[in-house]
Amino acid sequence: MDESAGQKTDPLHAGHPPERPGPGRLLNVNDDEATRYMVSRILRRAGYEVEEAETGMQALEAARRSPDLIVLDVRLPDISGLDICRTLKSDPSTARIPILQTSATFISAERKAEGLESGADGYLAQPIEPPELIATVRALLRARHAEDALRRSALDWQRTFEALGDAVALVSDQGEVYRLNPAMRELLGHPDSLPACSRCLDALFEGGLKAALDSTADARGRPIREVRRNRRTYRVVIDPLRSAGGGRFVLVASDVSDQKALEQEHLRRAEELSAEARRKDEFLAMLAHELRNPLHAIATANRLQDQLQEGDPNRAELRSAISRQVRHLARLVDDLLDVSRITRGKIELSRTVMDLATCIQNGVDMVRGQAENRRQTLEWIPPPTPMPVQVDGLRFEQALINVLSNAVKYSPVGGSIRVQVESAPGSDDAAFEVRITDQGPGIAPDKLEEIFDLFVQVDPSLARSRGGLGIGLTVARSLVELHGGRLWAESEGPGRGSTFVVRMPRAHAEPDRPSERPPTNPPARSLRILVVEDNMDALFALQTLLQTLGHQVWAEADGRRGLEVARHEELDLALIDIGLPGMDGYEVAMRIVQQPGPHPYLVAVTGYGRDTDRGRAEEAGFGAYLVKPVQSEELERLLGRVSAGAAQR
Ligand code: ADP
Repeated sequence: MDESAGQKTDPLHAGHPPERPGPGRLLNVNDDEATRYMVSRILRRAGYEVEEAETGMQALEAARRSPDLIVLDVRLPDISGLDICRTLKSDPSTARIPILQTSATFISAERKAEGLESGADGYLAQPIEPPELIATVRALLRARHAEDALRRSALDWQRTFEALGDAVALVSDQGEVYRLNPAMRELLGHPDSLPACSRCLDALFEGGLKAALDSTADARGRPIREVRRNRRTYRVVIDPLRSAGGGRFVLVASDVSDQKALEQEHLRRAEELSAEARRKDEFLAMLAHELRNPLHAIATANRLQDQLQEGDPNRAELRSAISRQVRHLARLVDDLLDVSRITRGKIELSRTVMDLATCIQNGVDMVRGQAENRRQTLEWIPPPTPMPVQVDGLRFEQALINVLSNAVKYSPVGGSIRVQVESAPGSDDAAFEVRITDQGPGIAPDKLEEIFDLFVQVDPSLARSRGGLGIGLTVARSLVELHGGRLWAESEGPGRGSTFVVRMPRAHAEPDRPSERPPTNPPARSLRILVVEDNMDALFALQTLLQTLGHQVWAEADGRRGLEVARHEELDLALIDIGLPGMDGYEVAMRIVQQPGPHPYLVAVTGYGRDTDRGRAEEAGFGAYLVKPVQSEELERLLGRVSAGAAQR
C-alpha cells in the first residue's frame, strides 16, 4: 500500500514510479540507554531498521549516511539537540532528512516551539507512547516522500522546459516575462535581464506583445501568428494559463523556416506543373489543328479525284498533294515519338566525321522548297575550308532543319535568311558556329531561353498559322547537346529578327568521304505476299498497291487466318500488323517461324516506332520493321530486296 501518497496520483502525470515508502532506515540518538533501547525497540517492531547514536558527534557522523529519519533527543552530553538540528538543516546534503525531536525535560510549549524553530520537523515529549511515535514517524516519512516526489517532478518539468527546441516564455497579461527557456533566450538574442526580454518580445509583434495578448484573450480558437527574426520565420501561438487563475500566458514560438521553404518549393512546383499542364492542353489543341489540316487536304483531294476525268493532268497533281500531306502527317507523328526519346537522351547516335558545311548544305536543300514557296532568299555561301565535326549526319541535320524551317516559317514572305558558318570567336579554331539569321518577328529577351522548352510558343496563334507543335526547338537543342554542342537564340527584341547559333566542337580528324548513294534496287519480280491487317481500309489499300505492282496477294484481317495461309501457301513475304486483335503480330510471326519448311520473309508493320518494339519484333522473327504510314518508296525498296533474295532461293 502506498502510505506516503496522501492523494491519488494521476497515472499520466506520475512521471516517476512512486518510491517505496514502507519502513526505512532510521537513526535513533539518545544518551539515555534505557530510553534509547525502548525507542529502538518500538521502531524495529514497526519494521524499521534502526541505527543508534549516543552523542551529538556520533549523531552528526551517522547523519552523513543519509538515514530516512532521525529521532533526536534534545539533551545530549556533548552538543545540544537543537544545535545538531540547525547544523543538519543548514547542510544541503542532510537538510532534507526529517528530524523528530524528543525530550523529557523541555516539555513546555516554548521549548517545543524552539525545537521546531531549530529546524525539527516534529516534536514528541517523553514518555513516548509507542503508537504516537510510530504514527509521527510515518507522517514525517510520508511528508518527506511527497516532498521528494514534488521536487523530482519540478525538476523534470524544468529540464523539459529547458530542452524544448521551441522557444517558450511565460508572460503576464501586461507583457512582463516571468520565465523563458534557452531557445527563447536565443531567439531574443540573449538579453541580459527579464525586462530586456520583455522589450525584445514586445518588438517581435506588430503592435506590441500586449496587443497580441489582448487579442488572444478575446479570440475564439487559437490565433497563429508568424513573426520574422534573424531571417527566420517563427510561428507563434499564445495560450492563456487558465489553471493559474488567469493573468498569465504561455507563448510558444516554433521555427518554421524550413517548412516554409518546403511549402514554397511545393507551391513553385505546383505552379510549374499547372503551367506544364496548360502547355500540354494548348499542345493538344494545336495537335488537333495540325492533324486536321493535312487530313482536310487529303479528303478534299480525294473527293476531287473522283470528279476528274481519267487522264486529266490535275489528277497527278492531286495525287502528289495527297502524298505530300501523308508525308507531313508521318513527319508529325515521327516528331512526337522522337521528342520524348531525344529529350531523355534515349537515342543512339552513329557518329562519323563530317564536314559541317555538308550538313548545312543538306539542311538548306531540305528547306529550300519551303523558302521558295514564301519567295524568300536563302543566302548560304559554303566556307572555303572543311570544318570537321563528329556527328550522326541524319540527327544533326534534323536539328539544323528544325531551326532553318523556323527561320523560313517565321520570316515574312519575300524576306531573306542568311546562313553562315565560321570558327567560333575566341575558340582558336577548336569550335565552329553556325549562325542562322532571319528577318522575322524577333524574340523578346525573356523568351530567348523559354522557347527551347517543350510546347512553348511565344505567339501560339502565329505559330499555329505557320504550322508547328512547339517541339522543334526542344528537339533541336537536345540533339545538338547530344553531339556535345550548344544551341541558343539571339535577338535584339520583337520586330528585329532572330539569330539561332549552333556551336559545335571541331573533330580531330578529316571528314570521311561522303558515302556513295546506295545502288537503286532492281525492280521487284512478282512475289507471293501475305498481308495481315485488321484495319480493313489499310488492308485493302496495301493489297491493291501490291497487286498494282504486280504481286500476288493474300489479304487477311486476323492472325489465325494469316497462319492458315502461311501453312498452305509458299510465300515470299508476310507483312504483319503488330496490333492485331486476339493473337498479336509477334505471336503470328513466332508461329510462322515454327511451322515446318521454309518460311516467308517477315516484316512487321506498326504504328509504334519505339526501340523496345523493334527489339521485340526482332526476337519474334521479323526481318524488317516498317512504321505506318508506310512510304511507297520504302515499300518498293523492301520488295526489291526480297525479290533479289527470293531470286537466289
Ligand atoms: P513551333 O512548332 O511552334 O515553331 P519550336 O519549338 O520550333 O515550335 O519553336 C518554339 C517557338 O519559338 C515558336 O512557336 C516561336 O514562337 C519561337 N520561334 C522559333 N523560331 C523562331 C524564329 N526564327 N523567329 C521568331 N520566333 C521563333
